[in-house]
Amino acid sequence: MSDESLKSHAARFTPTPLLIDGKRNLIGLTLAELKSEMETLGLEPFRAKQLWAWIYCHGVRDFEKMTNLGKSVRAKLAKHFVVWRPTIKTEQISVDGSRKWLMAMADGHEIEAVYIPEEDRGSLCVSSQIGCTNKCSFCHTGTMRLVRNLNASEILMQVMHVKDVLGEWGTIPKARLLSNIVIMGMGEPLFNYEPVAKAVKLIMDEEGISIGRRKITLSTSGVVPMIKRCGEELGINLAISLHAVTNELRNELIPLNKKYPIEELLQACRDYPAASNARRITFEYVMLKGINDGPADAKELVRLLRGIPAKINLLPYNPWPGSPYESSDDATIQKFGDYVNAAGYASPIRTPRGRDIMAACGQLKSASQKEKKKEE
Ligand code: SAH
Ligand code: SF4
Repeated sequence: MSDESLKSHAARFTPTPLLIDGKRNLIGLTLAELKSEMETLGLEPFRAKQLWAWIYCHGVRDFEKMTNLGKSVRAKLAKHFVVWRPTIKTEQISVDGSRKWLMAMADGHEIEAVYIPEEDRGSLCVSSQIGCTNKCSFCHTGTMRLVRNLNASEILMQVMHVKDVLGEWGTIPKARLLSNIVIMGMGEPLFNYEPVAKAVKLIMDEEGISIGRRKITLSTSGVVPMIKRCGEELGINLAISLHAVTNELRNELIPLNKKYPIEELLQACRDYPAASNARRITFEYVMLKGINDGPADAKELVRLLRGIPAKINLLPYNPWPGSPYESSDDATIQKFGDYVNAAGYASPIRTPRGRDIMAACGQLKSASQKEKKKEE
Protein backbone atom coordinates (compact mmCIF):
# COMPACT_ATOMS: atom_id res chain seq x y z
CA MET A 1 0.00 0.00 0.00
CA SER A 2 1.39 3.41 -0.91
CA ASP A 3 1.46 6.30 1.54
CA GLU A 4 -1.53 7.77 -0.29
CA SER A 5 -3.61 4.63 -0.09
CA LEU A 6 -2.69 4.24 3.60
CA LYS A 7 -4.11 7.73 4.12
CA SER A 8 -7.35 7.07 2.26
CA HIS A 9 -7.73 3.80 4.13
CA ALA A 10 -7.42 5.65 7.43
CA ALA A 11 -9.94 8.26 6.34
CA ARG A 12 -12.48 5.66 5.27
CA PHE A 13 -12.46 3.81 8.56
CA THR A 14 -11.92 6.63 11.05
CA PRO A 15 -14.97 8.35 12.48
CA THR A 16 -15.16 12.05 13.15
CA PRO A 17 -15.19 12.69 16.93
CA LEU A 18 -18.22 11.02 18.45
CA LEU A 19 -20.54 13.24 20.46
CA ILE A 20 -21.93 12.16 23.80
CA ASP A 21 -25.44 13.58 24.29
CA GLY A 22 -24.52 16.19 21.71
CA LYS A 23 -21.38 17.21 23.61
CA ARG A 24 -17.74 16.83 22.68
CA ASN A 25 -15.47 14.61 24.79
CA LEU A 26 -12.39 16.50 25.97
CA ILE A 27 -10.32 13.33 26.29
CA GLY A 28 -7.82 13.11 23.48
CA LEU A 29 -7.42 16.86 23.00
CA THR A 30 -3.92 18.30 23.15
CA LEU A 31 -3.15 21.42 25.14
CA ALA A 32 -3.20 23.48 21.93
CA GLU A 33 -6.60 22.04 21.02
CA LEU A 34 -7.94 22.75 24.51
CA LYS A 35 -6.72 26.34 24.15
CA SER A 36 -8.51 26.76 20.88
CA GLU A 37 -11.74 25.34 22.39
CA MET A 38 -11.43 27.84 25.26
CA GLU A 39 -11.04 30.63 22.75
CA THR A 40 -14.18 29.56 20.91
CA LEU A 41 -16.09 29.68 24.19
CA GLY A 42 -14.66 33.09 25.02
CA LEU A 43 -12.69 31.73 28.00
CA GLU A 44 -9.14 32.75 28.92
CA PRO A 45 -6.40 30.55 27.40
CA PHE A 46 -4.96 29.66 30.84
CA ARG A 47 -8.15 27.70 31.53
CA ALA A 48 -6.82 25.12 29.10
CA LYS A 49 -3.82 24.39 31.34
CA GLN A 50 -6.11 24.04 34.36
CA LEU A 51 -8.40 21.67 32.50
CA TRP A 52 -5.45 19.67 31.25
CA ALA A 53 -4.22 19.10 34.80
CA TRP A 54 -7.65 17.99 36.03
CA ILE A 55 -8.13 15.63 33.13
CA TYR A 56 -4.69 14.14 32.55
CA CYS A 57 -3.03 14.44 35.99
CA HIS A 58 -5.94 13.94 38.35
CA GLY A 59 -8.33 11.88 36.26
CA VAL A 60 -11.26 14.10 37.23
CA ARG A 61 -14.38 13.75 35.11
CA ASP A 62 -16.86 16.01 36.84
CA PHE A 63 -16.50 19.72 36.06
CA GLU A 64 -17.96 20.51 39.50
CA LYS A 65 -14.85 18.97 41.09
CA MET A 66 -12.51 21.28 39.17
CA THR A 67 -12.31 23.65 42.08
CA ASN A 68 -10.00 26.29 40.66
CA LEU A 69 -12.48 27.02 37.88
CA GLY A 70 -15.17 29.55 38.77
CA LYS A 71 -18.81 28.54 38.85
CA SER A 72 -19.71 30.22 35.58
CA VAL A 73 -16.69 28.67 33.82
CA ARG A 74 -17.69 25.21 35.05
CA ALA A 75 -21.25 25.74 33.85
CA LYS A 76 -20.08 26.88 30.44
CA LEU A 77 -17.79 23.87 30.08
CA ALA A 78 -20.50 21.45 31.17
CA LYS A 79 -22.85 22.90 28.59
CA HIS A 80 -20.54 22.08 25.69
CA PHE A 81 -18.25 19.29 26.84
CA VAL A 82 -17.98 16.06 28.74
CA VAL A 83 -14.98 14.22 30.17
CA TRP A 84 -16.06 10.75 29.25
CA ARG A 85 -14.97 7.13 29.61
CA PRO A 86 -16.15 4.10 27.63
CA THR A 87 -18.97 2.06 29.12
CA ILE A 88 -17.58 -1.05 30.78
CA LYS A 89 -19.68 -3.97 29.59
CA THR A 90 -17.81 -6.73 31.38
CA GLU A 91 -14.73 -7.16 33.52
CA GLN A 92 -13.08 -10.57 33.81
CA ILE A 93 -10.31 -11.39 36.25
CA SER A 94 -7.96 -14.29 35.55
CA VAL A 95 -6.59 -16.65 38.18
CA ASP A 96 -3.20 -15.03 37.47
CA GLY A 97 -4.54 -11.55 38.26
CA SER A 98 -4.82 -10.31 34.66
CA ARG A 99 -7.96 -8.33 33.97
CA LYS A 100 -9.83 -7.96 30.73
CA TRP A 101 -12.46 -5.35 29.99
CA LEU A 102 -14.97 -5.20 27.21
CA MET A 103 -15.53 -1.51 26.59
CA ALA A 104 -18.26 0.09 24.50
CA MET A 105 -17.43 3.30 22.69
CA ALA A 106 -19.94 6.11 22.21
CA ASP A 107 -21.40 4.48 19.08
CA GLY A 108 -21.84 1.15 20.88
CA HIS A 109 -18.95 -0.63 19.18
CA GLU A 110 -16.83 -2.69 21.53
CA ILE A 111 -13.15 -3.39 22.05
CA GLU A 112 -11.08 -5.28 24.60
CA ALA A 113 -8.14 -4.15 26.74
CA VAL A 114 -6.08 -6.31 29.09
CA TYR A 115 -4.10 -5.35 32.21
CA ILE A 116 -1.29 -7.68 33.22
CA PRO A 117 0.16 -7.11 36.70
CA GLU A 118 3.70 -8.23 37.39
CA GLU A 119 5.74 -8.17 40.57
CA ASP A 120 7.21 -4.70 40.21
CA ARG A 121 5.27 -3.30 37.29
CA GLY A 122 2.13 -3.67 35.22
CA SER A 123 1.37 -3.55 31.51
CA LEU A 124 -1.73 -2.62 29.65
CA CYS A 125 -2.40 -4.13 26.26
CA VAL A 126 -4.43 -1.63 24.26
CA SER A 127 -6.41 -2.04 21.05
CA SER A 128 -5.98 0.23 18.04
CA GLN A 129 -8.84 -0.91 15.80
CA ILE A 130 -12.23 -2.55 16.17
CA GLY A 131 -11.43 -5.79 14.38
CA CYS A 132 -8.35 -5.86 12.19
CA THR A 133 -7.32 -4.89 8.69
CA ASN A 134 -5.41 -8.17 8.37
CA LYS A 135 -6.51 -11.75 8.42
CA CYS A 136 -3.65 -13.65 9.99
CA SER A 137 -4.57 -17.32 10.01
CA PHE A 138 -3.56 -17.96 13.64
CA CYS A 139 -5.24 -14.93 15.21
CA HIS A 140 -8.75 -14.71 16.63
CA THR A 141 -9.02 -10.96 15.97
CA GLY A 142 -8.19 -11.74 12.36
CA THR A 143 -11.46 -13.66 11.98
CA MET A 144 -13.36 -10.45 12.69
CA ARG A 145 -13.90 -7.93 9.92
CA LEU A 146 -12.52 -4.44 10.40
CA VAL A 147 -15.43 -2.49 11.84
CA ARG A 148 -13.54 0.77 12.13
CA ASN A 149 -10.41 2.44 13.42
CA LEU A 150 -10.29 3.83 16.92
CA ASN A 151 -9.65 7.53 17.29
CA ALA A 152 -6.97 8.96 19.60
CA SER A 153 -9.50 9.59 22.35
CA GLU A 154 -10.66 5.96 22.29
CA ILE A 155 -7.11 4.64 22.45
CA LEU A 156 -6.22 6.98 25.29
CA MET A 157 -9.39 6.21 27.26
CA GLN A 158 -8.32 2.57 27.60
CA VAL A 159 -5.30 3.79 29.56
CA MET A 160 -7.33 6.27 31.58
CA HIS A 161 -9.91 3.65 32.52
CA VAL A 162 -7.19 1.42 33.92
CA LYS A 163 -5.73 4.31 35.89
CA ASP A 164 -9.25 4.85 37.31
CA VAL A 165 -9.47 1.19 38.33
CA LEU A 166 -5.99 1.20 39.88
CA GLY A 167 -6.56 4.57 41.54
CA GLU A 168 -3.30 5.75 40.02
CA TRP A 169 -3.95 9.48 39.61
CA GLY A 170 -2.30 12.47 41.24
CA THR A 171 1.26 12.14 42.53
CA ILE A 172 2.93 9.39 40.55
CA PRO A 173 4.41 6.65 42.74
CA LYS A 174 7.91 5.33 42.00
CA ALA A 175 6.71 1.78 41.51
CA ARG A 176 3.72 2.25 39.30
CA LEU A 177 0.95 -0.30 38.98
CA LEU A 178 0.57 0.82 35.39
CA SER A 179 4.12 1.27 34.15
CA ASN A 180 4.08 -0.08 30.60
CA ILE A 181 1.86 0.14 27.56
CA VAL A 182 1.88 -2.44 24.79
CA ILE A 183 -0.05 -1.71 21.62
CA MET A 184 -0.78 -5.36 21.00
CA GLY A 185 -4.54 -5.67 21.42
CA MET A 186 -7.09 -5.80 18.64
CA GLY A 187 -5.97 -4.31 15.36
CA GLU A 188 -2.91 -3.35 13.35
CA PRO A 189 -1.66 -0.07 14.85
CA LEU A 190 0.35 0.97 11.80
CA PHE A 191 -2.79 0.86 9.68
CA ASN A 192 -4.18 3.50 12.04
CA TYR A 193 -1.02 5.48 12.58
CA GLU A 194 -2.22 9.07 13.13
CA PRO A 195 -4.64 8.36 16.00
CA VAL A 196 -2.20 5.91 17.58
CA ALA A 197 0.58 8.51 17.38
CA LYS A 198 -1.60 11.22 18.87
CA ALA A 199 -2.64 8.97 21.76
CA VAL A 200 0.95 7.86 22.37
CA LYS A 201 2.14 11.48 22.51
CA LEU A 202 -0.53 12.28 25.07
CA ILE A 203 0.41 9.21 27.13
CA MET A 204 4.09 10.21 27.03
CA ASP A 205 3.53 13.88 27.95
CA GLU A 206 5.59 14.57 31.06
CA GLU A 207 3.06 17.09 32.29
CA GLY A 208 0.36 14.45 32.17
CA ILE A 209 0.23 10.65 32.26
CA SER A 210 3.97 10.58 31.64
CA ILE A 211 4.72 7.01 30.62
CA GLY A 212 8.04 7.26 28.77
CA ARG A 213 8.84 6.07 25.26
CA ARG A 214 11.02 3.27 26.62
CA LYS A 215 7.99 1.85 28.40
CA ILE A 216 5.77 1.79 25.33
CA THR A 217 5.92 -0.95 22.70
CA LEU A 218 4.09 -1.07 19.40
CA SER A 219 3.62 -4.43 17.76
CA THR A 220 3.16 -4.64 14.00
CA SER A 221 2.54 -7.42 11.53
CA GLY A 222 4.90 -5.50 9.23
CA VAL A 223 3.46 -2.34 7.65
CA VAL A 224 6.87 -1.43 6.24
CA PRO A 225 6.19 2.14 4.99
CA MET A 226 5.08 3.29 8.45
CA ILE A 227 7.86 1.77 10.54
CA LYS A 228 10.41 4.54 10.00
CA ARG A 229 7.94 7.26 10.84
CA CYS A 230 6.96 5.50 14.04
CA GLY A 231 10.61 5.40 15.12
CA GLU A 232 11.32 8.99 14.16
CA GLU A 233 8.20 10.60 15.55
CA LEU A 234 7.52 8.49 18.62
CA GLY A 235 10.80 6.72 19.41
CA ILE A 236 8.92 3.90 21.12
CA ASN A 237 9.96 0.25 21.21
CA LEU A 238 9.14 -1.85 18.21
CA ALA A 239 7.91 -5.43 18.17
CA ILE A 240 7.62 -7.32 14.91
CA SER A 241 5.29 -10.27 14.49
CA LEU A 242 7.63 -12.40 12.43
CA HIS A 243 6.39 -15.96 13.05
CA ALA A 244 8.01 -17.48 9.94
CA VAL A 245 11.41 -17.48 8.28
CA THR A 246 10.38 -18.09 4.67
CA ASN A 247 8.14 -15.87 2.57
CA GLU A 248 6.19 -18.92 1.50
CA LEU A 249 5.09 -19.74 5.04
CA ARG A 250 4.79 -16.12 6.17
CA ASN A 251 2.47 -15.40 3.20
CA GLU A 252 0.24 -18.13 4.51
CA LEU A 253 0.28 -17.01 8.16
CA ILE A 254 0.31 -13.24 7.62
CA PRO A 255 -1.16 -12.37 4.20
CA LEU A 256 0.30 -8.84 4.48
CA ASN A 257 3.67 -10.48 3.82
CA LYS A 258 2.75 -10.69 0.14
CA LYS A 259 2.92 -6.90 0.06
CA TYR A 260 5.89 -6.44 2.37
CA PRO A 261 8.07 -9.56 2.27
CA ILE A 262 10.56 -10.57 4.95
CA GLU A 263 13.60 -8.89 3.33
CA GLU A 264 11.89 -5.49 3.16
CA LEU A 265 10.57 -5.85 6.69
CA LEU A 266 14.00 -6.69 8.09
CA GLN A 267 15.59 -3.79 6.21
CA ALA A 268 13.06 -1.45 7.87
CA CYS A 269 14.14 -2.96 11.20
CA ARG A 270 17.81 -2.39 10.41
CA ASP A 271 16.92 1.25 9.70
CA TYR A 272 14.61 1.70 12.71
CA PRO A 273 15.64 5.03 14.24
CA ALA A 274 14.91 4.12 17.86
CA ALA A 275 16.75 0.77 17.91
CA SER A 276 20.18 0.20 19.44
CA ASN A 277 21.94 -2.46 21.41
CA ALA A 278 20.45 -0.94 24.52
CA ARG A 279 16.98 -0.88 22.96
CA ARG A 280 16.46 -3.97 20.92
CA ILE A 281 13.66 -4.76 18.53
CA THR A 282 11.50 -7.61 19.75
CA PHE A 283 10.72 -10.31 17.24
CA GLU A 284 7.61 -12.22 18.17
CA TYR A 285 7.53 -15.82 17.08
CA VAL A 286 4.45 -17.88 17.79
CA MET A 287 5.28 -21.58 18.12
CA LEU A 288 3.00 -23.63 15.87
CA LYS A 289 3.32 -27.37 16.12
CA GLY A 290 4.90 -28.90 13.02
CA ILE A 291 4.63 -25.62 11.10
CA ASN A 292 7.47 -23.29 12.09
CA ASP A 293 9.10 -24.93 15.11
CA GLY A 294 11.89 -27.14 13.73
CA PRO A 295 15.69 -26.81 14.10
CA ALA A 296 15.99 -25.52 10.50
CA ASP A 297 13.58 -22.69 11.35
CA ALA A 298 15.62 -21.73 14.41
CA LYS A 299 18.81 -21.75 12.35
CA GLU A 300 17.31 -19.59 9.60
CA LEU A 301 15.86 -17.19 12.17
CA VAL A 302 19.29 -16.57 13.61
CA ARG A 303 20.73 -16.04 10.14
CA LEU A 304 17.99 -13.58 9.15
CA LEU A 305 18.36 -11.44 12.26
CA ARG A 306 22.12 -11.08 11.98
CA GLY A 307 23.10 -7.43 12.40
CA ILE A 308 19.80 -6.34 13.96
CA PRO A 309 19.76 -5.48 17.67
CA ALA A 310 17.11 -8.03 18.47
CA LYS A 311 15.49 -10.14 21.12
CA ILE A 312 13.19 -12.97 20.27
CA ASN A 313 9.96 -13.56 22.10
CA LEU A 314 8.79 -17.13 21.75
CA LEU A 315 5.03 -17.25 22.21
CA PRO A 316 3.27 -20.51 22.87
CA TYR A 317 0.28 -20.56 20.55
CA ASN A 318 -2.96 -19.57 22.28
CA PRO A 319 -5.79 -21.58 20.82
CA TRP A 320 -9.31 -20.23 20.37
CA PRO A 321 -12.53 -22.02 19.43
CA GLY A 322 -12.14 -23.37 15.92
CA SER A 323 -8.50 -22.32 15.57
CA PRO A 324 -6.55 -24.26 12.97
CA TYR A 325 -3.25 -24.79 14.82
CA GLU A 326 -1.82 -26.41 17.91
CA SER A 327 0.94 -25.04 20.08
CA SER A 328 4.33 -26.72 19.91
CA ASP A 329 5.05 -28.81 22.98
CA ASP A 330 7.22 -27.47 25.78
CA ALA A 331 10.28 -29.53 24.87
CA THR A 332 10.22 -28.28 21.27
CA ILE A 333 9.84 -24.67 22.41
CA GLN A 334 12.69 -25.13 24.89
CA LYS A 335 14.96 -26.62 22.23
CA PHE A 336 14.17 -23.79 19.81
CA GLY A 337 14.83 -21.26 22.58
CA ASP A 338 18.13 -22.90 23.52
CA TYR A 339 19.38 -22.71 19.95
CA VAL A 340 18.46 -19.05 19.60
CA ASN A 341 19.97 -18.29 23.00
CA ALA A 342 23.22 -20.00 22.14
CA ALA A 343 23.41 -17.78 19.06
CA GLY A 344 23.44 -14.78 21.35
CA TYR A 345 19.82 -13.68 21.35
CA ALA A 346 17.83 -13.25 24.51
CA SER A 347 14.78 -15.39 23.85
CA PRO A 348 12.39 -15.49 26.74
CA ILE A 349 9.55 -17.93 26.39
CA ARG A 350 6.54 -15.81 27.14
CA THR A 351 4.22 -17.47 29.63
CA PRO A 352 0.76 -16.70 28.38
CA ARG A 353 -1.23 -14.60 30.80
CA GLY A 354 -4.99 -14.57 31.16
CA ARG A 355 -5.57 -17.66 29.03
CA ASP A 356 -8.53 -18.69 31.19
CA ILE A 357 -10.37 -15.48 30.35
CA MET A 358 -9.32 -15.52 26.68
CA ALA A 359 -7.14 -12.48 27.27
CA ALA A 360 -3.87 -13.84 25.91
CA CYS A 361 -2.19 -12.65 22.72
CA GLY A 362 -4.28 -13.22 19.65
CA GLN A 363 -7.40 -14.17 21.54
CA LEU A 364 -9.10 -10.80 21.69
CA LYS A 365 -12.31 -10.52 19.82
CA SER A 366 -15.22 -8.55 21.12
CA ALA A 367 -17.90 -10.60 22.82
CA SER A 368 -20.62 -8.91 20.80
CA GLN A 369 -19.04 -10.31 17.65
CA LYS A 370 -18.89 -13.78 19.19
CA GLU A 371 -22.55 -13.55 20.09
CA LYS A 372 -23.49 -12.43 16.59
CA LYS A 373 -21.62 -15.40 15.14
CA LYS A 374 -23.55 -17.76 17.41
CA GLU A 375 -26.88 -16.28 16.37
CA GLU A 376 -26.02 -16.67 12.69
N1 SAH B 1 -1.61 -6.47 14.93
C1 SAH B 1 -0.42 -6.39 15.66
C2 SAH B 1 -0.62 -6.32 17.16
C3 SAH B 1 -1.68 -7.18 17.77
S1 SAH B 1 -1.42 -8.92 17.83
C4 SAH B 1 0.49 -7.54 15.30
O1 SAH B 1 0.05 -8.46 14.62
O2 SAH B 1 1.66 -7.48 15.66
C5 SAH B 1 -0.26 -9.13 19.18
C6 SAH B 1 0.64 -10.36 19.03
O3 SAH B 1 -0.10 -11.57 19.26
C7 SAH B 1 1.24 -10.50 17.65
O4 SAH B 1 2.60 -10.87 17.73
C8 SAH B 1 0.43 -11.63 17.08
O5 SAH B 1 1.09 -12.25 16.02
C9 SAH B 1 0.26 -12.52 18.29
N2 SAH B 1 -0.80 -13.52 18.16
C10 SAH B 1 -1.92 -13.46 17.40
N3 SAH B 1 -2.68 -14.58 17.58
C11 SAH B 1 -2.01 -15.36 18.46
C12 SAH B 1 -2.30 -16.61 19.07
N4 SAH B 1 -3.43 -17.26 18.81
N5 SAH B 1 -1.40 -17.12 19.94
C13 SAH B 1 -0.26 -16.42 20.26
N6 SAH B 1 0.04 -15.22 19.74
C14 SAH B 1 -0.81 -14.69 18.84
FE1 SF4 C 1 -4.42 -8.32 13.02
FE2 SF4 C 1 -2.19 -8.69 14.47
FE3 SF4 C 1 -4.21 -10.47 14.55
FE4 SF4 C 1 -2.72 -10.26 12.35
S1 SF4 C 1 -2.03 -10.92 14.38
S2 SF4 C 1 -4.97 -10.41 12.42
S3 SF4 C 1 -2.32 -8.08 12.30
S4 SF4 C 1 -4.28 -8.37 15.26
